[in-house]
Amino acid sequence: MQFNELGLSEPIMKALAAKNYVDPTPIQQKAIPVLLEGRDLCGIAQTGTGKTAAFALPSLDYFARNPKVTPIKGCRMLVLAPTRELAAQIAQSFRDYGRFLKLSVETVFGGVPVNKQIRALAGGTDIVVATPGRLLDLIDQRAFTISHTEIFVLDEADQMMDMGFIHPLKRVAKLLPRERQNLFFSATMPKEIEALAAQFLNDPVKVSVAPQSTTAERVRQQATFVNQAEKQALLHLVLESEDIDRALIFTRTKHGADRVVRFLEGAGIDAFAIHGNKSQGQRTTALQAFRQGKVKLLVATDIAARGIDVSGVSHVINFEIPNVPEQYVHRIGRTARAGAEGVAISFVADDERPYLKAIERATRVKLEMLPLPENFMEAVRKLPKPAAPKKGPSQTPQQQAKRADGQRRYQDGQKSQRGAPDKAHRGETEGGEAKRPFRRRRTGAVGAHKGAVQRTGTPR
Ligand code: AMP
Repeated sequence: MQFNELGLSEPIMKALAAKNYVDPTPIQQKAIPVLLEGRDLCGIAQTGTGKTAAFALPSLDYFARNPKVTPIKGCRMLVLAPTRELAAQIAQSFRDYGRFLKLSVETVFGGVPVNKQIRALAGGTDIVVATPGRLLDLIDQRAFTISHTEIFVLDEADQMMDMGFIHPLKRVAKLLPRERQNLFFSATMPKEIEALAAQFLNDPVKVSVAPQSTTAERVRQQATFVNQAEKQALLHLVLESEDIDRALIFTRTKHGADRVVRFLEGAGIDAFAIHGNKSQGQRTTALQAFRQGKVKLLVATDIAARGIDVSGVSHVINFEIPNVPEQYVHRIGRTARAGAEGVAISFVADDERPYLKAIERATRVKLEMLPLPENFMEAVRKLPKPAAPKKGPSQTPQQQAKRADGQRRYQDGQKSQRGAPDKAHRGETEGGEAKRPFRRRRTGAVGAHKGAVQRTGTPR
């Protein structure tokens, strides 16, 4: 099947030709005809399957055929995404696919000045792509309304639930008008997601393109057993020996991601970290540099990396193994995109072995076990010191103090490990976030964006 058989309007076909898209992907083949009929849709699909175009193209087609004045302080289409990066990416897709249509596309998410957003939305917008927290903030301030929404999309529903967005989503459901088309996408569809879908959808057509927990087939999956404290040395060796175009390195914690970057910098290797404690500016700069190939290594936590679509990622390195098999599938799905081959290498510490087993059980793939490289012990001995933490203007004094404290504790941990190898794991965890002293949670903050998303109705 080709795109020209789907009956999409001329300006959209022109935009697709400009992008060299000829054949619709399976989710597009299944979803586009149904959506053009105006039906609701429930799609089980991961990022990388072409699902953004699957919902963007028929919606743009609807706007091309039904031009209307945009509602003041409102929108005709609302797309909800869990992270700022994904929201920005989706908005860019709408701009690309809709470049020959005169439609306005705006993003709404935390971490950027709210007044600028309010001004941009004041006159009315065709398509708004938002994260739930900031969207509800604007609604509460009477700066925006979703009561005129004609098409509503909820993307990455399972991650929304993981991030604690259930209550914001329930509020959104109540604020939408009765008459509308609904699209709901999730990589997995356990019972609670099905219940959430039921709140939004009206007699939906169900389409599915990726069965749960199947790992991308073209990814070569390898793993090495290594002490947690010695992972950094292994990382440096892997980066030397592998032919890397672009690598995404995953850590479990934000602090861990920063530490990996500092060690790489100490060894003269350029890398950026991307996680929830970074300012929006830093996140955008890091992602742009990685996309453009200016920096080959991006160290990320799961939340920040989910849904990110960067072509040419040759390697995914799991510096730490995720404790949920689905997360592993999402991570390695960042490579081997758009028909390319990819390599996923996992560093497995003793206490992570059960996670590895769970991943192998869920994906029904046995990872190829690699021994430690021959020069490994020498690399451990000669590991360069980490670079000092940067004190950028975007860091608050509290963040700077927190970083310095983490660095001190990490170094203490390192000292205690020398000559006491069996304490290696304990030292590492003490330096990480897991055993940090108890800190008061910011009241009012929900989800993983801490502060970017505010629980509505509570004082700030
Ligand atoms: P998504 O799953 O929406 O994140 O899309 C994954 C990638 O596939 C993106 O880089 C899209 O630009 C690309 N893509 C989507 N549809 C097509 C298509 N029909 N042909 C070629 N590439 C596509």
